[in-house]
Amino acid sequence: MNSVTDTLAKVSLENARILVVDDQPINIQVINQILGGSFQLRFAKSGQEALDICLSDPPDLILMDVIMPNLDGLTTCKIIKNTPNISDIPVVFITSLQKAEEENACWQAGGIDYMTKPVNPLPLTNRVNAHLTQKFQADLLKKLAYLDGLTGVYNRRYLDDYLARQTSQAKRTNHAISLLMIDIDYFKQFNDEYGHLVADDQLKLTAFTLKESLHRPTDITARYGGEEFICVLPDTGAEGAKQVAERILRHIRALEIPHKLSPHKYLTVSVGTASIEAKQNYNTDLTALADKNLYKAKNTGRNKAI
Ligand code: GH3
Ligand code: MG
Ligand code: MG
Repeated sequence: MNSVTDTLAKVSLENARILVVDDQPINIQVINQILGGSFQLRFAKSGQEALDICLSDPPDLILMDVIMPNLDGLTTCKIIKNTPNISDIPVVFITSLQKAEEENACWQAGGIDYMTKPVNPLPLTNRVNAHLTQKFQADLLKKLAYLDGLTGVYNRRYLDDYLARQTSQAKRTNHAISLLMIDIDYFKQFNDEYGHLVADDQLKLTAFTLKESLHRPTDITARYGGEEFICVLPDTGAEGAKQVAERILRHIRALEIPHKLSPHKYLTVSVGTASIEAKQNYNTDLTALADKNLYKAKNTGRNKAI
């Protein structure tokens, strides 16, 4: 537990990216002078421009003017707070409005803080530091919550969520999707022969090798159970899945981890593949199908993909 606390205490704000949204160039210049030396700043002169930047390259924090033509700051903030993937970007309002109800509107819109113009450099810097620290700590905790503690690949919780999202996305867009179930061969004997610590190290190396064998940004590796892993391959049909499975087998064999008690002499894996082709039966249970094929691979010699 201590190491998590230590890691959280050490979050670095060095590469923090802040988006400054204001229709007046002079206001942007002022903030640039105060924060430009410490953070990576980007600027937007309208609410729409801010939304475009958030969607294409999300910042860690937004400093938002309230009164702007067309899309004002409050509306822009509400849209951000209701848009998946960008809803957790903290928004700090910087405004010349001073009345209590105007301030209240900023909180109601989903803002995390409120400052009045003209901004004072020190309070602005302190508050930006505080909000960024909280944002980075929250990001880190979220990451730890969906990674497997031993191997560092995604955990079962994340896998379930990701697979459900990608399957419905495939169905919506009529795309293919594949899943690989990977199980280490004769791993019980490996533990018995070489001990748990060595076995844990090889489990980590296997997980890393699986992850490195996937090339597309939407492909993921997750630990499904003890020495079983699942790779999700969105937008990939049976032919592509077979290719990735064969690549995994090659990469694991190439590690040449000695395993005296295996007929293959080295540590190997078996892979069960399952695919839904584009526009085909989206109700297929990919996990069950991959499990069935893994069983076949195990029963016909292991160290293969079916
Ligand atoms: P098969 O070739 O049929 O897959 O045989 P197996 O021995 O690999 O499979 P089985 O499911 O019978 O046993 C899995 C073994 O994997 C049990 C345990 O010794 C080992 N194992 C599972 N999780 C871990 C882990 O986190 N660390 C270590 N060191 N070993 C694990
Ligand atoms: Mg096994
Ligand atoms: Mg197993």
